[in-house]
Amino acid sequence: MLNLVLFGPPGAGKGTQSEKLIERYQLVHISTGDIFRAHIKDQTELGKQVSQIIANGNLVPDSITIAMLEEEIKKNPQAKGFIFDGFPRTVAQAESLDVFLQSIGEQITGVVALDVTEEELKQRIAKRQELSGRADDAADKLTKRIEEYFNKTVHVLPYYEGQGKLSKVNGIGEIETIFDDLTAIIDKY
Ligand code: AMP
Repeated sequence: MLNLVLFGPPGAGKGTQSEKLIERYQLVHISTGDIFRAHIKDQTELGKQVSQIIANGNLVPDSITIAMLEEEIKKNPQAKGFIFDGFPRTVAQAESLDVFLQSIGEQITGVVALDVTEEELKQRIAKRQELSGRADDAADKLTKRIEEYFNKTVHVLPYYEGQGKLSKVNGIGEIETIFDDLTAIIDKY
C-alpha cells in the first residue's frame, strides 16, 4: 500500500493537490475536514457535536477525530493506499494512526509537507472564501485556524522527521509545478 500524508497549513493547497494525486496513484482520499462537513450537512449526531467547534476554527477533539478516521479506513478494505489530507493535526493523532495502521499490517509510506508563508495563506483563504462561502474562512476564524496550526499541528512535523519520513515541497507557484515536485518524491517511495 502507498499511504501518504499531505501536510500543510490551512490554504496550503492540500485539497487541490490531493485531487490530482489520487487520480495519478489510484488512492483513496481521506480528508477529515470534508468528512466533518458532510456530517454537518447531513445533520448527523457527529455533525451536531462538531459544528460549533469547526465554525469557530478550533480543532475537533482527538478522540472523535481518530475514531472517525479509523472508520473511514475500515470502509475501504480494497484500497491500494490512502492519502490523508488534514490528518494528523496533533502528535496524538499521528501516534494513533501509526498504531492503527500497524494493527492492520500497514504503515505510513511518507509525509509531504507543502511549505507556504503565512502572508500567502491569508491571501489565498480570503480568495477561497469568496468562492466557497465557508464560515470558517472568515478572517477571525481563519486567524484561529492558523493559530491552531502553529500551536498544535506543526509539532507533527518533527514526529515524522524523527521517523525519516518527512519531505518538504515549496507550496507557492503553479499548481502543475507543485504537483511535479510532489510526484518526483512519491515516485521514489
Ligand atoms: P480542513 O478542511 O482540513 O481545513 O478542516 C476544517 C476544520 O475541520 C478544521 O478547522 C477543524 O475544525 C476540523 N478538522 C479537520 N481535520 C481535523 C483533525 N485532523 N483534527 C481536528 N480537527 C480537524
